[in-house]
Amino acid sequence: MREPLIFEMSKKGRKGYSLPECDVDKENLKKMIPEEYLRQKSPDLPQVSEPDLVRHFTRLSQRNLGIDTNFYPLGSCTMKYNPKVNEEIARLPGFRQIHPYQPQESVQGILKILYEMERLLCQISGMNKVSLQPAAGAHGELTSMMMIKAYYKERKEERNVVLIPDSSHGTNPASANFCGFQVKEIKSNREEEIDLNDLTKKINKEVAALMVTIPNTLGLFERNILKIAKIIHNEGSFLYLDGANLNALLGLVRPSDLGVDIMHFNLHKTFSTPHGGGGPGSGPIGAGEKLAPYLPIPLVEKGKEGYYLDYNRPKSIGKVRSFYGNIEVIIKAYCYLRSLGKEGLKEVSYNAILNANYLMKKLKKYFSLPYKGPCMHEFVLSGEDKEAKGIRTLDIAKRLLDYGFHPPTIYFPLIVKEALMIEPTETESKETLDAFILAMGQIKKEIKENPCLVKEAPCNLPISRLNEVKASRELKLRWEKNGV
Ligand SMILES: *Cc1c(COP(=O)(O)O)cnc(C)c1O
Repeated sequence: MREPLIFEMSKKGRKGYSLPECDVDKENLKKMIPEEYLRQKSPDLPQVSEPDLVRHFTRLSQRNLGIDTNFYPLGSCTMKYNPKVNEEIARLPGFRQIHPYQPQESVQGILKILYEMERLLCQISGMNKVSLQPAAGAHGELTSMMMIKAYYKERKEERNVVLIPDSSHGTNPASANFCGFQVKEIKSNREEEIDLNDLTKKINKEVAALMVTIPNTLGLFERNILKIAKIIHNEGSFLYLDGANLNALLGLVRPSDLGVDIMHFNLHKTFSTPHGGGGPGSGPIGAGEKLAPYLPIPLVEKGKEGYYLDYNRPKSIGKVRSFYGNIEVIIKAYCYLRSLGKEGLKEVSYNAILNANYLMKKLKKYFSLPYKGPCMHEFVLSGEDKEAKGIRTLDIAKRLLDYGFHPPTIYFPLIVKEALMIEPTETESKETLDAFILAMGQIKKEIKENPCLVKEAPCNLPISRLNEVKASRELKLRWEKNGV
């Protein structure tokens, strides 16, 4: 099963194309490009036939576990099935061939979609206004922090602290810090929710915002959120919602009703769109009345003569992304929203919650659950096993690959030892969930009876256990012929 490198398959003179003789006079390259930029030697490119090339890359592509081939319960990431029809629509020539600098009257169609998308997200969240510009969740967080900073700067209030719970996603402290805020951590209580005593101790007039995630990264709804909002607002600070877990709230809870002042959406998670492996994503932000004037420019508005881009927003922090954001992701999310409708979206959340609770109930027989249920759309187990010394969550994750499952998120959130964070999403059937439960039970048995096997996994894949530290520290991308 060893797949050779494409360089190793190379045979001199073999080609994957055939073109007629060139019938125009050759130009000397040196006339067009300064000599210093021209390479001295031709590159040593692989020479292979078209079928060999196609087979090589098709085989490589099949070595990946993806949402179209395998169950992918990657907690926090919401790896749900992406309806292919949305891909088709986003690829229609009318969308694909427009230019961002075309006159507005010639792109009324896409402006209408952006306008409606902003309003749909307002309805879902209860926020006053939405900007579709940020390119991902983390970018939405940063944009929001910049807006909060601009708000206090205008009021000449010195507020340099952002409070963040210890269960939060790493991008939260990173975004706040990147924006120049000092990050202070809020502890979780025994129920793994925000500790109100710790919050009360740390809130003061220096605090610009509290960043919360609902449901939190353990998949639990913050039951004290109304009290938390009150504590924050009484001090004149803002409540920021990391909306990455919105998959559990659609049509059930409106963030504005929880006291949220500003939030981001992850269109690529909640509203489908293939993601992972680097994007593209889309992280719109929604703001309540106080912060809406600071949203990035332009927003899409509707006037007498049609839809237009509104740049006349004097308090705006400016632009945070070229053009208007990742348009094709927005189109896919728009199609997803329109095809499901209000009732369909509610069903998404109900089924996501149902699937997660089913898995949680079945899996806690095998691995320990660090809190009492029920959960929302995801849950966290601990892979720690007092009897099976030396077996770690990493081993369980690697063994799952042998059973044909993409592993869950591991070692996050940080507050659970040996965390296994599982999010099945609503698009999985009971049969798939049962197959996963069976595999997890089997692995638990192997840990007892044959721990060495689990320690060495994956055993049935073309590549066995990697030294991940070495692989990332000594990344080797260059093919060397005879070590040269
Ligand atoms: C994914 C995620 C983010 C960051 O979003 P990106 O779109 O990956 O930048 C932030 N918070 C939580 C809880 C997440 O799951």
